[in-house]
Amino acid sequence: MVQRGFEADATFANENMITFKIGPNGDAVFMVPEGRIRASSEFADAAMRGPWQESQERVIALPEFDKKTFGTYLQWLLTGVVHTKAGCADGNKSIEARLYSEILRLPNLSVLGHYLLDNDFRDSINDALIECTADLHRNGSKFPASYGPDFYDKTPDQSPIRKLVVDLVVWDMREFHVLRLKTDRDTMHPDYIMDLLLAVSSRLVSGTPGKSPLDGWDTSCKYHCHGDEKPCYRKKADTPRVIPTKRPASDEAQSPDAKRQASG
Ligand SMILES: [Zn+2]
Repeated sequence: MVQRGFEADATFANENMITFKIGPNGDAVFMVPEGRIRASSEFADAAMRGPWQESQERVIALPEFDKKTFGTYLQWLLTGVVHTKAGCADGNKSIEARLYSEILRLPNLSVLGHYLLDNDFRDSINDALIECTADLHRNGSKFPASYGPDFYDKTPDQSPIRKLVVDLVVWDMREFHVLRLKTDRDTMHPDYIMDLLLAVSSRLVSGTPGKSPLDGWDTSCKYHCHGDEKPCYRKKADTPRVIPTKRPASDEAQSPDAKRQASG
């Protein structure tokens, strides 16, 4: 059966668009509906709000990100679907190999979510990581400790993604894993090693393994960024993701970088 929609929703005919130039040379160009991205990304909202070059030219450059990463973000922004699963071309890989490939795509997306100050996207990526790890467990595998440092690169200290990664690793950690940290310390992110040691110490002091991060995760916001004051993305699925694009008074403007530093 054909899916029919409302005429007014057709191809953003009634929405303003912002140009995103992605990559070191800005070669990958995306047109993004302004209302949608400003409703989701505090960075894009701040960039369009203030007297910044981005706002004047209606262009935002993201030189440190690649086309595939931003394309995945944009697809999520428009559909709510995180497109990270391995495709048909990878069909001859084992289930575990495809899950490992998928997990390795998540750190760049997490960094982009942080850069854009898009908490719904960050929370979606954290949930994707838990889902992949839960699937690994069902197939007798687990989240590899060696993947942890990828999630520490360019993500903020104390961020939910870092806490989630450490909990996933420590939950399965055995004595010989702890000893391996000694040999890996020159190649691993120092914050990662420190967080692992603190978490292992905490487990030893308490004398109990604690609760698995995979238990009840789909009804918990323990690893989400939105806090108590903002709704969870899971509850927003059926509500419009658009805000008015009217420009506010200039004293409301805060630079995008200042906002990011404030958010942590
Ligand atoms: Zn939540």
